[in-house]
Amino acid sequence: MSSEAILSIHSAPRPAPVPLIDLVEQHASIREEVHAAVDAVLDSQRFILGDEVVGLEQEVAGYCDARHAIGCASGTDALVLALMALDVGPGDEVITTPFTFFATASAIHRVGARPVFADIDPVSFNLDPEAVAAAITPRTKAIMPVHLFGRCAEMEPLWRLAVRHGLAIVEDAAQAIGSTYRGRHAGVLGTIACFSFFPTKNLGGAGDGGMLATDDCDLDVRLRRLRVHGDVGRYEHLEIGLNSRLDALQAAVLRVKLRHLESWTQARRENAARYQERFSAAGTAEHMVLPTEAPGSRHVYNQYCVRVREGRRDAVLQSLQSRQIGCAVYYPKPLHLQPCFDFLGHKPGEFPQAEAAAGEVLALPIYPELGAARLERAASAVIDAVKQTAHRSITIPFRDAARKAA
Ligand SMILES: *Cc1c(COP(=O)(O)O)cnc(C)c1O
Repeated sequence: MSSEAILSIHSAPRPAPVPLIDLVEQHASIREEVHAAVDAVLDSQRFILGDEVVGLEQEVAGYCDARHAIGCASGTDALVLALMALDVGPGDEVITTPFTFFATASAIHRVGARPVFADIDPVSFNLDPEAVAAAITPRTKAIMPVHLFGRCAEMEPLWRLAVRHGLAIVEDAAQAIGSTYRGRHAGVLGTIACFSFFPTKNLGGAGDGGMLATDDCDLDVRLRRLRVHGDVGRYEHLEIGLNSRLDALQAAVLRVKLRHLESWTQARRENAARYQERFSAAGTAEHMVLPTEAPGSRHVYNQYCVRVREGRRDAVLQSLQSRQIGCAVYYPKPLHLQPCFDFLGHKPGEFPQAEAAAGEVLALPIYPELGAARLERAASAVIDAVKQTAHRSITIPFRDAARKAA
């Protein structure tokens, strides 16, 4: 027997790993376009704001049907700038979800206001409007819904609360560019919307970047001023703002990628549909709950997060990791239990839906270039993993009693 044949016996062919996301593959598909755009900016030597940023602002505004879009340095800064433009500050409260990325609540604290958490809806993972209503006080200034994982929050009840109590709505649309709610785009579902161009978002730059969207002309003017130190021209500072500008290199890359966003979103949605088909056919409903889309709304699946039932999430996660299937937990600890928010005085059990979600969610690969073959490997590994862990957790009273006696 040849040594090659022996080798192949001893190292049984292992299927190639499936990453949770692969930005390298996406870049390869647009390499020439991106390099040309970057070279043009380098040749111009104009790096801060400028034509590329103005062009991207107009294109993003057009994409989500907003009157104005304002580039800034990150999604986090977009949230801070939005609150500053709405004069939210010390003594004010902003209601948001504890089940989100950290920046949502930290932005509220950054402007001196108090984050007030309201529990989530277990199906959408988004703010539960009834919990929001119960959290409103005379100090409430704004509601900050997050369109988590790319699914729009249930906005209509929030609009009604906002009108009744005179509140602003700041959309945290960092994960949701291209999603819709009853036919309208994320970005025009509140007073101001905030997007992030962090590389793993659906529209990701070559570094940090962010954007605000609004239909309000006065807010547009104010946001443009706030991102440049409150400067109104010739070193005249009307108010104290930030240095939070989008740079031209980011804008140039993002303009290239925006042209592909619809097809990438379509690919994410097709992947979600394939998972749905595969999991339903395999009868996994007793083991896990799949993400759903609200009628009349479009989910853009920045993440495809399933809920694994009955405390078996971590076992499934380990099983997938051992098979080299990319997966992750967004987010393992709700914000009301984060050590930095101890001063808010929250206790475990206060937001049971957010806490349950943190223990059960599992994100699976959904990126546009995943393709049918890798998706199939991921899906069958998930099906195996949920069934195996279920088998292990079955308790057999007779055997358990015997074990105790031994
Ligand atoms: C990514 C993200 C942010 C922050 O965006 P950055 O560009 O990383 O600052 C805020 N909120 C949510 C929900 C996010 O996912």
